[in-house]
Order: sequence, then C-alpha cells, then structure tokens
Amino acid sequence: MFSELKKTVLNYWGYDSFRPLQEKAMIAALQKRDSVVVLPTGGGKSLCFQAPAIVMPGTALIVSPLISLMKDQVDSLKEHGIAAAKIDSTQSEDRNRQVARDLKEGNLKIIYLSPERLVGLKFIEFIKNIDISFFAIDEAHCISMWGHDFRPEYRQMRCLRELFPDIPIHAFTATATSQVRDDISRQLNLANPGVYVGSFDRPNLIFTAEPRNKGIRQVKRIIDKHPGDSGIIYCIKRDDVDAMSAKLVEMGYKALPYHAGLDKTVRKNNQQAFVEEKTDIIVATVAFGMGIDKSNVRYVIHAGMPKSLEHYQQESGRAGRDSLEAECSLFYSGSDFQIWKFLMKDMQKDAREIALSKLSDMYDYCTGTICRHKAISSYFGQALNGKSCGACDICLGSLESVSDSLVIAQKIISCVARLDNSFGADYVSKVLVGSKDKRVLLNNHDNVSTYGILSDHPKGAVRDWIEQLCSTGYLVKTGEYNVVARTPESRAVLKGEETPKLYITKTKSYDKTDMVQKQWEGVDQGLFEELRQIRRVIADSKGLPAFIVFGDAVLRELARFRPVTIRQFSGIKGIGKAKTAEYGHHICRKIREYCERNDIKMGIEPFGEYDDDFKLGKTRMQRSAVDARKKAFRYFKQGFAVDRVALKIERAESTTVQYLVEFIEKNNVDDPFPWVSRDESEQITAAALKSDEEKLKPIYEKLGGKISYDKIRIALACLKNKS
Ligand code: ADP
Ligand code: ZN
Repeated sequence: MFSELKKTVLNYWGYDSFRPLQEKAMIAALQKRDSVVVLPTGGGKSLCFQAPAIVMPGTALIVSPLISLMKDQVDSLKEHGIAAAKIDSTQSEDRNRQVARDLKEGNLKIIYLSPERLVGLKFIEFIKNIDISFFAIDEAHCISMWGHDFRPEYRQMRCLRELFPDIPIHAFTATATSQVRDDISRQLNLANPGVYVGSFDRPNLIFTAEPRNKGIRQVKRIIDKHPGDSGIIYCIKRDDVDAMSAKLVEMGYKALPYHAGLDKTVRKNNQQAFVEEKTDIIVATVAFGMGIDKSNVRYVIHAGMPKSLEHYQQESGRAGRDSLEAECSLFYSGSDFQIWKFLMKDMQKDAREIALSKLSDMYDYCTGTICRHKAISSYFGQALNGKSCGACDICLGSLESVSDSLVIAQKIISCVARLDNSFGADYVSKVLVGSKDKRVLLNNHDNVSTYGILSDHPKGAVRDWIEQLCSTGYLVKTGEYNVVARTPESRAVLKGEETPKLYITKTKSYDKTDMVQKQWEGVDQGLFEELRQIRRVIADSKGLPAFIVFGDAVLRELARFRPVTIRQFSGIKGIGKAKTAEYGHHICRKIREYCERNDIKMGIEPFGEYDDDFKLGKTRMQRSAVDARKKAFRYFKQGFAVDRVALKIERAESTTVQYLVEFIEKNNVDDPFPWVSRDESEQITAAALKSDEEKLKPIYEKLGGKISYDKIRIALACLKNKS
C-alpha cells in the first residue's frame, strides 16, 4: 500500500519525495493507528491525511475550524484532480444535500466540515451508514485549553471515539508544547496513538530584529526588497495599523488595513484582497492570520514587538509556507514593552505574572545576541545544533562587536549611578551623548560629570548598548517606569574585571546569502515574472487565489527548467496529472515564446533522466547526483579543468575525477589534454607500456611520484580508448 501512496503523491501532486515525518504519519494512517502529528506551519500537514485518504477505501472526514480554510483546501484539492467537497453554512442547502448524496454513493475521497457539523445528531446518524476511512482533525490544539486558540465546539468531538470505536482519529497541529499534545490525545480518547513531532525550526525564514529608530523608513526598506510580493505588517495597536497603511498607500504601495475595529465586511474584503493578490500588503493587528494559508507570503514585518515568542512564532510563521526563502523582520523599542505592560494592567494577578514573564522573554529575544533560530527553537524546548544558521542577522554578522566595549560600558554604568538609578534608558542615553533636551537641562543634568562623555557616538547606538547591558544583566530595568538601575554585576565592570560584549547593528542585505541564492539558482527572473502574470490571468478567470493555481515554488521550477513539451512539463516538481492536462500546453507554449524571444535555453536537461528517475522512484538526493554528473560532463566537453568543475558542481575533486574518467569512457576520448599536459601524458604512456599490469601504483612509482594518481588515471582511460 505504501508504494501506491508514493505513486499517488507523484501522480496527483507531482512530489517525488516526502518532507520529514510525512512518511511516518501516512504509514500510521494506512495502518489505521490513531496519531498526533505536530509539524510547524508549512511543514506539510495536509498531505499527511490527504494522500492516505485517496489510497484508502472510503471517505475521509476532515475537521477544520474555519470556513475560509476549508474553501482553500477544497479548491486546491480539486485543482489537483481529487474528488473533494465541503459541507458548511455558506453553501446552499441544495449544495450540501448534493454533497451528502455524493458521500453516500461513495463518490468522494475527502470531505471538509466544521466540528459542530460533524457532531450534529442528524449527521452522526447519517454517517453511521457510510464507509469512513478516518477522521482527521486539523488545528487540533483548538480542543485544548492550554493551546492558544481554545474552541469549545472542538470539545464536542470527544464523543467520536465512543460512537465510532473502529474508525481511526488523526490529530494535526502546529502547536509545540507537550502539554497541548497530551491534552489532545486525552480529550479525543486516542488509543496508543503514534506521536510525531517535527522540528520547529524553519530554515527558509530569515529572522532579524532591530531597534526601531528610523520609523517607517525601516519598514519601507524591507518592502522595497520584495516588489510585487505579498507581505504582512503587524502593528500592536489599531491606530498604528490605520496610520501605517494610510502612509504606505500615500507612498504608492498597495496596502490595506485589518483589525477588529473595522467593519466585518471591510475586514473580510481586505483579507480576500490579500489572498487573491489584489493588494500586496496587509497591515494588521494580531487579529489577522488565522485561517490564512496563503503559501507565498514573502515577508512578515513586525513594526512593533509582539507580546510573546509564541505570538511571534505564529505570526512570523505565516511567511514562506512554500519553503522558499522569506524574511521575518522585527522592529522593537523599549516603548513596546511599556505599551504591552500597560495593556496587561487589568489582568488577574497570576495570569498577569505569566504574561509579563513571556513579555520579558520576548524582549530578551529582541535584544539578545544568539542565533535567532536557536533562540526560538530553544524557547520551544528543542535544541538546534550547528554553528551558523545562515539565515539570521546574528549569524550573518550584522552585529559588529565594539572594540572598546569595556570603557563604553563603564561610562554608561557610571552615568546610571550619577542619575541615582532613577531614569529610563532613553533619558540616560540623552545625558551620555550630551543632548540639549529640555528635560535634561531642567534637571541640571548637563552639569553631571558623565554628561556628554559618549558624545562621539550616535544616540541610537548608546540607547542600544544600554539595552544590551540590561539583557546581559549588568543593568536592570525596574519599577513602573522601567528606570534603569545598576546590578551587583555592574561593579565588576567598573573595576575592569569583566568586559560586557557590546555590539553595533549594521543594516545588511540578506539577498545574497547562500540559502537565498540556492533558492533562485538557475531561475530566469524575467520568465518567473512573466509566469506570475500568466498565473494571475488564470487565477482571475477561475476565481481562485493565484497560489492555488501554482505555488511560487512551482513557478520557480518552471522558470528554472523551462519545459516546452508535455513530458518535460509533467516532470516538474509540484505538477501532477490534473495540472498537466489543464495547463500543460498553454504554459509550454508561453515558455517557448519567452525563451525564443530572449534567446535563452529551454527544456533544460536532465529531463530525460528525470523521467527515468520518476519511474525508478529515485529520490531528489539521488537525482542531484545525476544532475552533478550531467553538469560535469557539459563542462568537460568545454575543456574545463578538474578543480574548476569541482567548484561548479560543488563536489570533491576526487568525485569530479571519477566523473571525468566516466566521461572519457563514454565519449571515447583518446587525448587526455587539457587535463594532463602533452609531456606528462607521454611519460605516463611510456611507463604504462613498460609495466604489464594495469595497476596505478607501479606506474606512479616508475614516474618517481612526480605525477599525481589522478592524472595517471585520466591518461590511462584515454590510452584504453586509443588501443
Ligand atoms: P501546513 O498545513 O503544515 O502548514 P501545508 O500542508 O499547507 O503545510 O504545506 C505547505 C506547502 O508545502 C504546500 O505548498 C504544500 O503543497 C507543500 N508540500 C507539502 N508536502 C510536500 C512534499 N512532500 N514535497 C514538496 N512540497 C510539499
Ligand atoms: Zn542564526
């Protein structure tokens, strides 16, 4: 059955490999074992139940909390040629009845519905006579009070196990904590479920956190890197949302606001406009996001700090669900901390303490100087190994350490002491840089000895350093107003016994990181843009969101391999048989036109081998070896030297030499030049003729070890072709 599953995934979705844990989750489904699957956003949860649903007899019932989510999923399944439907209150009763009829007649593989629909008495009675393959509960954390989105209607599903003891139940969530996981299993009364928890790291997201000191210009900088792409900007308050979106529109961007204060229809329309790419940017409060599974959000900007890392992970996680690179930029300020604290003032004491501690963890994350990926993973209880993530401001070196950290720290700490530990960070930094601020002058602080002792540094930098000293414990913020005060540790700094690490934040561009370059490798940008337009037209004519017609990942594959025949088209990752039939001819023609017009190569190899690989079920890893060999052969044909080819195909020289020998054999090459000089090749030939065996070592020794084994191997391969 498993091999059938693989075939199904390839046929319908055009994927030739599984994401981590997908395989395990699917096997559990095939074995009819209950399961709890925890994968991060974009981890590919849907496939875990959709593929088994197709292979297994009967119909799978999928529970989802939001109608908008169901609609996108069903649209997407239909686009893949899969018999799927939904039952919900936005459809006419006629339509719902039709779906019920289809269900009864066994014409559907997958049905989406809400929990309250599922457990309605009539429906329960109805499905008792239906062949159900399994129940899959999406967003299963909604059943738990410990989750961040408890929904009482989810609780009603506790009856499922008792009513349908033989039908497996699979729960899916992106919420990480073990508490929630256990609770899901308990509430649903799962029987010895397979529990599969994926890694929470999202390597394709580039995380950065910077102090907010240039207002909207910082936000603009990120947007301008992604022209025409979809992005979300989160603000803390509704007013900020309105102001930000108005300003962006004024500046000529396509932006719309979203928050709970807006009229319901306005909210709905704006969300729809974002999903359908009628607007590029949505500016929103936390109210936005649940129920959005738009896969091609290329950036998420936080114009203010969220109140917890849970929120940050959720919100930033809406970027890059298609596994392509995406940017998550956070701009924070000490005042954000104050705002949240203020908003928490009316909470119950216990709840407030928890909220404050989460807030303070969030602030530490912002001002912290360890890898962002590591910091987030470790917050969720998963250790991340490896030196550099290559995808965060810290690892990419946008923090430059300051050479005279000790002296600067001493000056700051002395100033805090001079001001009697009773002023905020902003004020202290003003005194340090010698500001003529009214309050400073009124307080006579232009007369303290530390006034202006850091006047040769920008105030923003000094302000950052104070935050850094707070986050490393040399200073502390206390009281209602967050005044900065000394800690016992600060004494060691004054004595020169300890040197705090201080950093300057550099604004760097992340467009050229290895990860990003890899994602764009070989992609013709012009063609990508043109395909985007074509997708837009198709999406509009079908009334579907663009990303459901083709994801960005598919567009990049198309712009990379430029298929011009149906066979080539169907070999593209992410394209199954339904899409091939529907769009193949049209897209291939467009690609051919583009390539001819721009005189670029089309139908790029190794398509022939791709097809064979598909038949043989080779994995992408194996295929990349095929790619490398193929590429190497092309370079050898042009006479490239071994070390250069090795660099180009990113393989060791020894592997590259192996490829060269294969190339020589395959193409009957009999002259080892340019890989071996004429002179050397004559020497090798002479030595080889004298020795009667074909072994390398005697020849190597005869030549006095002056010519490398690699060259001997190459020359011998040519010699064989000669004889
Ligand atoms: P989740 O529900 O976990 O957030 P999705 O199911 O929406 O994630 O999947 C995220 C994206 O990854 C989708 O665009 C999906 O088509 C793609 N995807 C899922 N599984 C695979 C796979 N095995 N290979 C390639 N892409 C995949
Ligand atoms: Zn990092």
